Amino acid sequence: MTTTPLHAKPEIDRGLIQKYSMRGPRYTSYPTAPEWKEDVGEAAYWRHIEETNHDGATEPISLYIHVPFCSERCYFCGCNVIITSRDDIHNNYVDLVTLEASRVAERINKNRPVTQFHLGGGTPTEISPAALERLLNNVKGHFRFTEDAELSIEVDLRVTTEAHLDALRRCGFNRISMGVQDFSEQTQTAINRIQSAEATRDFVRMSRDKGFISVNIDLVYGLPHQSTATFGRTLDTIFEIDPDRIALYNYAYLPSKLGHQRRILEEWLPSAEERFNIFQLAVDRFTENGFVYIGMDHFAKPGDELTIAQREGTLQRNFMGFTTRAGADMYSFGVSSISSLPALYIQNIKKLHSYEKIVREGALPIERGCELSLDDRMRRWVIMELMCNLRLPIARFNQTWGVDFHEYFAEEIPRLKPFIEDGLLDPNLSEELRVLDLGRIIIRPIAMTFDYYLTQARKTGRQTPTFSKTL
Ligand code: SF4
Repeated sequence: MTTTPLHAKPEIDRGLIQKYSMRGPRYTSYPTAPEWKEDVGEAAYWRHIEETNHDGATEPISLYIHVPFCSERCYFCGCNVIITSRDDIHNNYVDLVTLEASRVAERINKNRPVTQFHLGGGTPTEISPAALERLLNNVKGHFRFTEDAELSIEVDLRVTTEAHLDALRRCGFNRISMGVQDFSEQTQTAINRIQSAEATRDFVRMSRDKGFISVNIDLVYGLPHQSTATFGRTLDTIFEIDPDRIALYNYAYLPSKLGHQRRILEEWLPSAEERFNIFQLAVDRFTENGFVYIGMDHFAKPGDELTIAQREGTLQRNFMGFTTRAGADMYSFGVSSISSLPALYIQNIKKLHSYEKIVREGALPIERGCELSLDDRMRRWVIMELMCNLRLPIARFNQTWGVDFHEYFAEEIPRLKPFIEDGLLDPNLSEELRVLDLGRIIIRPIAMTFDYYLTQARKTGRQTPTFSKTL
């Protein structure tokens, strides 16, 4: 069995991709969101906050704020957004999030520094620069940030002004991420998202001039009218713009669930064959242009901290994606946002009017949650190690959890055989589980082996929720 270095170009085998193409979780959490329950709410959240914020607690924390507003709906979008440009609604939302954050912050040990702060949406820059700055200063005022904290934001550059960037920089934001999807005019028209290459180039330049140290661009393949020829031209422009990181997502077409996606006709979509060709083209071109494949749709430069962390086996994954900020609990605010503590996930309510009512009443706007058992935590550890670092050191598992890996997963280990036979996993499982080159693209099916809930569903014939395609 030959292996190439961790960050060599990922191998793509069409036959294996077809064999392992199935619906499965992306594992931004384990247990996955469909397993969460509505009876896990405020009481559980306070209890877990108290347990993890005892007097001696000094562990770092992460913060997330969700701003759900957009001025217009992009037809391909799968997010839960609120279409409004009304300043009064935006300003009211700033007040509500401030109230929610202050309520939680009161119970968090002030010795715990914030090392990561992310603003996502929707479109956080849909709100005015003044409202944005007020929101950030309000929330920051309740926490203590480290000097080198990573502060990042997702923007839609079509509504983001120089004044927004100045406000963000004043608040210490240093990383910026923006959607491009595709520069083809025909594709942009079909998805109702017109954004020129020139505007993107100018915006990236302005962001860098203002002092943002990292620029991420999101691309999507599988969109209407895309082909290798059109996407190839998009990639040419992307390499001229030269972002630091690239995310390449597979378009999830769900018109029966998302009414606005019906504006996209199925016959406009590339065939499965062409979709694969586009993906292959993109991976080849990224690699030729100096990007390394981190996994799960993400590419970064060799010197990027994500690439280095993966090489060193310390990469982590949370709701914001890959991160190097190890093990930080994440406190999130705003509609639909998700908080993550060592043994608890909590998700806020999605509807703005319900969120407002609960926050104004003085309670926490929680919709559902999940308290993790010891078994859940052990399986999450395994799944995250495989997905982030592509290897699972067995001695470290045994030491961390005080059980023998081979005994504990006696039922799962035989189910790894097909992956070994297909060259996705190293056959020597005695010291570590090591994902081979071919397995880097096919990581989700490997991780799914350790998902207790999927296994139970299969055994009992329980219908599993609709996850996205693994490939
Ligand atoms: S700007 Fe982003 S979040 Fe808003 S509708 Fe378009 S894709 Fe969705």
